[in-house]
Amino acid sequence: MFNKRIRIKTLLATEPAGQEVTVMGWVRTFRNNQFIALNDGSTNNNLQVVVALGTFPDELLKRITTSASLKVTGTVVPSLGKGQKMDLNAATIEVLGDSDAELYPLQPKKHSLEFLREKAHLRFRTNTFGSVFRVRHALAFAIHQFFNEKGFVYMHTPIITASDAEGAGEMFRVTTLPLDGTAPKNEEGTINFKEDFFGRSTNLTVSGQLEGELGATAFGDIYTFGPTFRAENSNTTRHLAEFWMIEPEMAFYDLEDNMNLAEEFIKYIIRYAMEHNREDLEFLATRLAEEEKQLPQDKRSEMGLIEKLEFVLNNDFERLTYTDAIDILRESNHNKKKKFQYGITGWGMDLQSEHERYLVEKHFKKPVILYNYPAAIKAFYMRQNEDGKTVAAMDILAPGIGEIVGGSQREERQDKLESRMKEIGISVDELWWYLDTRRFGTVPHAGFGLGFERMVQFVTGMTNIRDVIAFPRTPGSAEF
Ligand code: ATP
Ligand code: MN
Repeated sequence: MFNKRIRIKTLLATEPAGQEVTVMGWVRTFRNNQFIALNDGSTNNNLQVVVALGTFPDELLKRITTSASLKVTGTVVPSLGKGQKMDLNAATIEVLGDSDAELYPLQPKKHSLEFLREKAHLRFRTNTFGSVFRVRHALAFAIHQFFNEKGFVYMHTPIITASDAEGAGEMFRVTTLPLDGTAPKNEEGTINFKEDFFGRSTNLTVSGQLEGELGATAFGDIYTFGPTFRAENSNTTRHLAEFWMIEPEMAFYDLEDNMNLAEEFIKYIIRYAMEHNREDLEFLATRLAEEEKQLPQDKRSEMGLIEKLEFVLNNDFERLTYTDAIDILRESNHNKKKKFQYGITGWGMDLQSEHERYLVEKHFKKPVILYNYPAAIKAFYMRQNEDGKTVAAMDILAPGIGEIVGGSQREERQDKLESRMKEIGISVDELWWYLDTRRFGTVPHAGFGLGFERMVQFVTGMTNIRDVIAFPRTPGSAEF
């Protein structure tokens, strides 16, 4: 059997007592022709492999270069050196794959995140990205565990959709028609999508919500966790063209139930990472503190990463209505001194991310749930409130990130839903299947969408969303 190895993380948790083991991994450094720092991706802590002088041929030692892959068998003994508890005294070393140190793009030194983005195919071999992607994994696992424990059904909603009515964002077209001008045309000269693969115009999904509602009104509680696409040309540190979203949808839920679930959910997955990925989070906390040293005092976070996560776990999210938020913003010194790029024009305005961040970072200093937004700035399916001007929407805003969750209680009353659709020009005929849930046994229901990468950013403290997804897709960039 080839792969009879012990993971370095597992090995480092044992006591060194002369046991014989085999490890496999990639060389981080090789010092004095004697000490190999070996890493296998299970932890940032390297295993020190000790090569006794004179026991291995020079030709072999020359091949132990940065990022060469090795299989090493030996005995585990207490380390004589400082900095590690054990050494692996190598008995046999096999080079599985050579790595030309002259050509290998990553040096055993600090590289900038921008540089590593251009080497995204190799950046997993660095400590920062090792930690980020192990935490990302843990959060994904915790998400499934959370919903599974609560009896939710994991639903896979389609990635290719024909509905363009939701309006969550600009869409990418999916077609097999030729792009060279020979695509079949209608009499008016427009493209005849009846001739296209699906017999109609289709796109990549911007959200699985509408289909999620079909599931919730049968299973009670469902969630989706899948890729989502938005062709929005926004080059920010919080937007990707391809990102992952978790969208739970619950029958027999009102807006308050929805907020309660979202808050419990966020705390649960943070707690999971705190319990299972402590070492990685501590590494990332140190990294962030280093990074922030470059910033002017007033731009630095008040809390360290671990402290911030603990604070979120131990405090209730602040809940307030959109209307109250506008009042706070209007009355703020920040507004009076005209420090917002977009001034507070009054009730009805859409909040910009600077406004959201002011509420979260300066005013409340904790996550905030804003609810009951003006109907005019929210989607058609959100439940109309008694006041005739707001809908039962809620957004969760997180420090350093801004919007992390968007959700609402859905409009379950068919007449109200249809009149709203007609009012804003959404085709009732096209969404016949969606409206059937309201025709046949409609129920109060609610749901939300959590942007997975924004959550990973929040937990890892990474400032750019491009650094928490393996291969980011953003305007002008889809390499790897
Ligand atoms: P924003 O105002 O930040 O663009 P949105 O209002 O478009 O967000 P929703 O349509 O409510 O967002 O999507 C639900 C969640 O998906 C958001 O709360 C956010 O966490 C995430 N999200 C939205 N757009 C993106 C994107 N382009 N890249 C990464 N995550 C996103
Ligand atoms: Mn958006």
